[in-house]
Amino acid sequence: MNNSKNVLRYMFGKGSIDGLGELLNEIESTSDYSVYFIDEFFKDSALIERLPLKNEDVVFFVQTEDEPKTEFIDAFKSRLEEQEKTLPKAIVAVGGGSTLDTGKAVANLLTNPGKAEDYQGWDLVKNPAVYKIGIPTISGTGAEASRTCVMTNSKTGLKLGMNSHYTIYDQLILDPDLTKTVPRDQYFYTGMDTYIHCIESLGGRYRNAVGDAFSHQAITLCKEVFGSDDMMSDENREKLMVASYLGGCAIANSFVGVVHPFSAGLSVVLETHHCIGNCMTMNAMEEFYPREYGEFFELAEKQGIRIPKGIAADLKEEMYRKLYDSTVIHEKPLANALGEEFKEVLSYNKVKEVFKRM
Ligand code: NAD
Ligand code: ZN
Repeated sequence: MNNSKNVLRYMFGKGSIDGLGELLNEIESTSDYSVYFIDEFFKDSALIERLPLKNEDVVFFVQTEDEPKTEFIDAFKSRLEEQEKTLPKAIVAVGGGSTLDTGKAVANLLTNPGKAEDYQGWDLVKNPAVYKIGIPTISGTGAEASRTCVMTNSKTGLKLGMNSHYTIYDQLILDPDLTKTVPRDQYFYTGMDTYIHCIESLGGRYRNAVGDAFSHQAITLCKEVFGSDDMMSDENREKLMVASYLGGCAIANSFVGVVHPFSAGLSVVLETHHCIGNCMTMNAMEEFYPREYGEFFELAEKQGIRIPKGIAADLKEEMYRKLYDSTVIHEKPLANALGEEFKEVLSYNKVKEVFKRM
């Protein structure tokens, strides 16, 4: 039987970021330093002044031009080894899915030998991670609540996380003030990751009544936010932060479906970012998710968000071959959506045609 786990503790509300110092003080540890991973967007921002940074702490600013790769995680571990700072009292990650996943992966790797790629898969992490605190600054991926940290292995082309109970954050600070500065397009693309996770989960074969309840509520909140006149009002940013958290809890107890494997193909082969990749994939999803397809594009239109089209309309045959390989490799979600015999539906020609329609 699946023994589910969710984030143990969270602080929620405007200004809750100011509670970080107290949380760190309460941690019992023989170490006196913390390691921070902060989205580089905040490098020169007022937010840095509000963090309880100390001289002995290590601060990494995380770039987001590339989403996390296994080699980036290994490089962070090496830098901490060089500085003899491998057992901090806490890892604190402040940012979007990329930064939150980086914090999770490094926390696992500091207490487990080897390289990040050794733990891509299910329940491969053997030792509990360093204590970690997640502070999302954009809502949607659910990375703050899920039991994975997505990384691409450039050598093997595998985009897969360390799925483990140890990957789950010990503590979250959910402060909706932090998402004020997100650009509108990005707010929509990332926010709709929650919606897409949840429709895929509810459309699947492996269901869990608790996961379903999280998904239904997350979808309701997304529709309220993106169906309203000002999707980024104070109230809506708060709602979307809740939706993202619930969506992450849902996905921790279930699987995605057809959208994410295709979007992963785009990420691996064309380096498309996760959330915009999902939105592009939706262009071709009418046959798999007819009702949600209509709903998705209605919400995008309501917000005046353009979903790019045609990214894979006219590629060389070898590129379609790579796209096919990096899509059908995702057996668990595809079997969840289409059954164990999913390759009967997703033949090479079918997959190519879907990519051409995006
Ligand atoms: P991201 O972390 O890459 O950030 C997207 C952009 O938004 C970046 O340019 C970033 O600098 C900017 N940004 C973030 N917060 C901001 C703020 N407050 N103001 C202004 N700009 C801000 O994007 P994301 O969409 O949150 O995450 C995508 C990543 O999450 C992918 O790597 C994906 O694989 C991963 N993911 C993980 C899970 C999981 O369960 N672990 C689930 C889905 C996706
Ligand atoms: Zn996603």
